[in-house]
Amino acid sequence: MQETPTLPILNIISGSREVAADGQETFVATSTRAAETNRKGKVYVETYGCQMNFSDTEIISSVLIGEGYGTTDNASDADVIFLNTCAIRDNAEQRIHLRLQQLKGLKRRNPKLVIGVLGCMAERMKSALFEKEKIVDLIAGPDAYRSLPQLIELAETGQKAANVFLSLEETYADITPVRREGVSAFLSIMRGCDNMCSFCVVPFTRGRERSRPASSLLDEIKRLSDEGFKEITLLGQNVNSYLDETSTVNFAELMYRASLVNPKMRIRFTTSHPKDISEELIDVMAERPNLCKFIHLPVQSGSSRILAKMNRNHTREHYLEKIAMIKSKLPECALSTDIITGFCSETEADHAETLSLLREVRYDYAFTFIYSERPNTPAAKHFPDDVPSDVKQRRLSEIVAVQRRISDEIHRSLVGKVFEVLIEGNSKRSAEMWMGRTDENRVVVFPKAAQSAQAGDVVRVEIVEATSATLLGKQAL
Ligand code: SF4
Repeated sequence: MQETPTLPILNIISGSREVAADGQETFVATSTRAAETNRKGKVYVETYGCQMNFSDTEIISSVLIGEGYGTTDNASDADVIFLNTCAIRDNAEQRIHLRLQQLKGLKRRNPKLVIGVLGCMAERMKSALFEKEKIVDLIAGPDAYRSLPQLIELAETGQKAANVFLSLEETYADITPVRREGVSAFLSIMRGCDNMCSFCVVPFTRGRERSRPASSLLDEIKRLSDEGFKEITLLGQNVNSYLDETSTVNFAELMYRASLVNPKMRIRFTTSHPKDISEELIDVMAERPNLCKFIHLPVQSGSSRILAKMNRNHTREHYLEKIAMIKSKLPECALSTDIITGFCSETEADHAETLSLLREVRYDYAFTFIYSERPNTPAAKHFPDDVPSDVKQRRLSEIVAVQRRISDEIHRSLVGKVFEVLIEGNSKRSAEMWMGRTDENRVVVFPKAAQSAQAGDVVRVEIVEATSATLLGKQAL
């Protein structure tokens, strides 16, 4: 990535991606380098939740740096602390409450410190957050990041500052995110969701669906390619609904055009909705070699009765037809999914259908969650959360066990095969080993060979050993 030589270069947003036992992802910041000053003070950002939030933090950094703020990877060194939050499950919010307790000491030592809660939890709780957490000075929802400099200034005068306005248009298309240096970049192509799944808080926290213009996305992909990124993940709550209304470019067409920008750059996407994933998209993926053969297709339940109650707008049969279509056109495509267990009124028979669906589809991996009622969602309003917690826990264990066996079998079937692996960096377990990903999003760890390779290179790797979680390989000729 190019650095601007006339300004100091500081590390911003530090940390790493973690996946908790419940599958909840946390991006506690990531080291980034960018040109910045700190004439207005230093900001520390912690990011929780999904990749969309991670991508939003890059936009937040850009807005603040543009206004003269610096950033720091040390909370105790900051003038402003932001928690960019997730509201999808209750335990995601509990982590934020806990973190705010931990920040009280810093606020006591520095009463001028501004503490802000951003993102989905701010949007969901609105001013009730000020009542519950006196330490919070500022709240801003996902569509309010342009106003952060003004909100900080207001908070610095001792007033509570809030902007939770949800926009019908905001896509931050004109803001160049401040990205970490590296191999892979995320790019939000749309915001919001119109689907109204009955358990989900996202339509209330991120608002209506809107797509960023295709031309600005293609320009940004070109810029990322020029900066040396080797892989881009296009992000949206439901990418298959992407539509640039000015040019009528849909998601399949966007993927096609994106693949042409640099045919050596890998393009991924997440997340797809089963009702919308199209044959047109799968045909484009089959045609263009740099469109990665991996699809995350959340099913949530294997029971059509529960799916109807979830307002998913697809049945088990409809979902399996889509899977069959994908497998027939893209036999090498890897699949993953999300499962919610213990949704309102779920019976043992419904649960058995989820287990049988896992066995039928044979996902590479699944993110599994226990149903957690979210206030004001249709499910919370209309259906009792009536599956006892020990039953939810037991069903989750059974789902995890079935999926682990399938992941293990798939991984073992890959031993002896050779894959092109994009090296992302050192393996966590050893600086003597590389960690990279195959086109199908499978993580491979392998020893650094005598011949020089570096992060960002694509190398051929033979799989020599496998567990349900990891593939071990050796560089092949
Ligand atoms: S598709 Fe459903 S689960 Fe996904 S963000 Fe939209 S409402 Fe939530």
